[in-house]
Amino acid sequence: MQTEGAPYRKSTGIKGSFDAVVIGSGMGGLSAASLLAQNGRRVLVLEQHNVIGGLTQSYTRNGYRWTVGLHYIGEVGSPATATWKLFDKVTGGGIRWAPLPAIYNRMMIGGRRYDIPAGAAPYAAALKDYFPREAAAIDRYLDLVRNVSSASAGYFAQKALPQSRAEEVYDRICGSFHEHSDRLTIDVLSELTTDPELIAVICANWGDYSLEPTKSSFAMHCMLVKHYLNGGHYPVGGGAAFARSIVPIVEGAGGLVLHSAEVAEIIVSQGRTTGVRLTSGEVFACPLVISNAGVHNTFGRLLSAQARTASGLDRAVSQVVESYAVVGVNIGFNRSASELGFDGANIWAHPSNDFEANLEAHRRDFEAPFPWTFATFPSAKDPSWDDDFPGKATVEMYGYTDFRHFETWSATRWMRRGDDYLALKDRIRERLLDDLFRNVPAARSALDYVEVSTPLSYETFVKRERGGFMGIEASPQRFRQTWLRATTPIDGLYLSGQDVSTDGIIGALVGGVLASSAILGRDLMRDIRTPT
Ligand SMILES: Cc1cc2nc3c(=O)[nH]c(=O)nc-3n(C[C@H](O)[C@H](O)[C@H](O)COP(=O)(O)OP(=O)(O)OC[C@H]3O[C@@H](n4cnc5c(N)ncnc54)[C@H](O)[C@@H]3O)c2cc1C
Repeated sequence: MQTEGAPYRKSTGIKGSFDAVVIGSGMGGLSAASLLAQNGRRVLVLEQHNVIGGLTQSYTRNGYRWTVGLHYIGEVGSPATATWKLFDKVTGGGIRWAPLPAIYNRMMIGGRRYDIPAGAAPYAAALKDYFPREAAAIDRYLDLVRNVSSASAGYFAQKALPQSRAEEVYDRICGSFHEHSDRLTIDVLSELTTDPELIAVICANWGDYSLEPTKSSFAMHCMLVKHYLNGGHYPVGGGAAFARSIVPIVEGAGGLVLHSAEVAEIIVSQGRTTGVRLTSGEVFACPLVISNAGVHNTFGRLLSAQARTASGLDRAVSQVVESYAVVGVNIGFNRSASELGFDGANIWAHPSNDFEANLEAHRRDFEAPFPWTFATFPSAKDPSWDDDFPGKATVEMYGYTDFRHFETWSATRWMRRGDDYLALKDRIRERLLDDLFRNVPAARSALDYVEVSTPLSYETFVKRERGGFMGIEASPQRFRQTWLRATTPIDGLYLSGQDVSTDGIIGALVGGVLASSAILGRDLMRDIRTPT
């Protein structure tokens, strides 16, 4: 497996001293490490998997390359956007962004097709074209999206403040945000329209914010819609481009990035962290630890029961639940994307516009259709693809599922889960391929290679319990958790990544910026957005 960094070896151990240890090399961990390195800190990154990058990792097999958890990113179309500047800063200018086509999402609801264009005005016009009688509701909806997204500024601002200051100003600056974050997406949309098909089209990519409309916070829905309002972009070279540009920054400042290095415990003594213990048994002393492993892993698995209880984190963690799980296929085709007619638009497909009924049917019976599938076409999105992989194309595809269907195998080990598990994977492969070829029939004849993933793959490769790769559910309850911030009640222990403010690649990156800001005692977000 090709990767940045170096393998950890128990026999040689970790040499040298470092200012901070980062647990986990996802976007949140790498961005924190990069910003600390750019401020003169020597950082040790410890990653349990044998590839650096967390969910941004790419891997190559049988002559094809796929990226695991990065398919499109919004708000990076212009160097003037804050998002572009954040990525540019943490990667040292290492990412080139390629735009998805103007129609960047294609929603299929019960076989009916709705093309979603980039841009607020084209989006409004397309929705009104599909739903002419709902024009007034669509205008009110898009106004709300703008208002709620503006109100979210206070929510992010308080995350960047020191805890005591954040508590002082919290109610004042988060009040208008909570008016929307406390409400369910479905409740707000049902006040605007009674057309279930319009609601389904508006929410068809709820997989992007990890919770269905009947449970998700309306604020999360609005933040996500705004994120993609001007369409999506893809990093040239795929997700591995992040690790490739950030690791040299960390190492250039005297840091070290190690993979195959699983942390077993964050050591806490008298209310402050003193270092980490690896599963190899090695103890590495360091007064600063940033965990990018997610709150459930960090507080539930990596802290001792004593440290968890003494800090009150056991009660805090019980207030939030992990997000949903998916099954997936990474597919290789022996013809190019242009020959196969792949155009780069993602496809979100739902069996019907009754999302609740679709979910319920699948939760009861795995054989019921996947409540949604998402198909994305990396070889059509990446302008460098044809140079690296001429005459080939790839698709990455996912289907929502319920972890309970996989519980039988949760105590088994990777590659040793048994024949019944392998048979289930075959069945997943057939079902997802059938769903794909319904939308892109010409691709069937060029099918060359397929690899199946399940929720257990996420447990193995990124340590996401019950496959919940999006971290904490984006429910109204989540946005009421004032303890979800980069600082923790344990001195010297910080959090980065998607659980700190919101999920997604940009959410994880913001988590890294917040963690490094808290450590350096400077609002790096402000510095990056408005450089002096
Ligand atoms: C299928 C899929 C599609 C997605 N599509 C998109 C998309 O198109 N756009 C978008 O914005 N977002 C997308 N996401 C979400 C996005 O990938 C995540 O929100 C984001 O990458 C999370 O980053 P993170 O740094 O918080 O966590 P991760 O990337 O999960 O990083 C956590 C790291 O910690 C490591 N770790 C855990 N425990 C330990 C330990 N004990 N010791 C050492 N290391 C440890 C893990 O191995 C992992 O590498 C997608 C996710 C998936 C899975």
